[in-house]
Amino acid sequence: VTRPRTDAIIRPDFKFEDMGVGGLDKEFSQIFRRAFASRIMPPGLIEKLGVKHVKGMLLYGPPGTGKTLIARKIGQMLNANEPKIVNGPEILSKYVGSSEENIRNLFKDAEAEYKSKGDESSLHIIIFDELDSVFKQRGSRGDGTGVADNVVNQLLAKMDGVDQLNNILVIGMTNRKDLIDNALLRPGRFEVQVEISLPDEDGRVQIFEIQTKNLKQSKSLAADVSLKELASMTKNFSGAEIEGLVRAATSFAVNSVVNIGEGKTKYNAKDLEAMKVTREHFLKA
Ligand code: ATP
Repeated sequence: VTRPRTDAIIRPDFKFEDMGVGGLDKEFSQIFRRAFASRIMPPGLIEKLGVKHVKGMLLYGPPGTGKTLIARKIGQMLNANEPKIVNGPEILSKYVGSSEENIRNLFKDAEAEYKSKGDESSLHIIIFDELDSVFKQRGSRGDGTGVADNVVNQLLAKMDGVDQLNNILVIGMTNRKDLIDNALLRPGRFEVQVEISLPDEDGRVQIFEIQTKNLKQSKSLAADVSLKELASMTKNFSGAEIEGLVRAATSFAVNSVVNIGEGKTKYNAKDLEAMKVTREHFLKA
């Protein structure tokens, strides 16, 4: 046991209140406990306990629930390199060998740093969106050319193969966990799986608070708006849909003071400044 490593992994200036992610406290602590606890342990203890760091994490659930948001926030919170964000279909190339090379390139920086610094190297995060497009069940993936299989093998080689690195975390995201090959969900691969589901009422209040923060700061949110009431009326809304609702309500309010017509936009700056987004605008939206 040599030194505590909390500062080495979490940015000291990071504030959880500023995360801008609502209703996902439980999910976030689950992610933290499973994926990062080992990285905070002193190296001596890790060796003693034979702990292996988690290299892959899968965030799954319906669209617009904050998977991308939370993955990015993890990147900002950690003393890690700027996350590399890739999209499943983008990695697949029709040119022979190029898809594998795309994967290898993703890991290049992490590899170089690991070679020179070993376990002391900083964390490299790779965020993989639409994972299911590449990692479908065997036999159902790709176009029969084996390209997708090669990509899978290459990624697994980097995560749990012979030339594995200790300084990477791959965060995969999908709306369709059921489509993903079970072999990928084994320990050493995407072993931590966290469901990011639709927010409950309390979660929706938190998301409304986040999404109306700017309106409140500019004193443009009318006193008759109750975020609690809005949350109770928006069952089954995702975070993205709440964001859309706030945007729509705001544009109704803007339209009430701005006159757009026949190539001209007329408005009075004072009216715009005094503009309030009211309960009525939210109901209309
Ligand atoms: P998809 O599966 O479609 O890629 P996703 O789950 O990755 O969706 P995001 O891209 O993270 O969803 O969400 C879109 C936007 O919706 C975010 O940028 C954010 O503004 C808002 N949003 C979604 N969920 C939340 C949340 N839990 N808290 C605050 N804002 C949220």
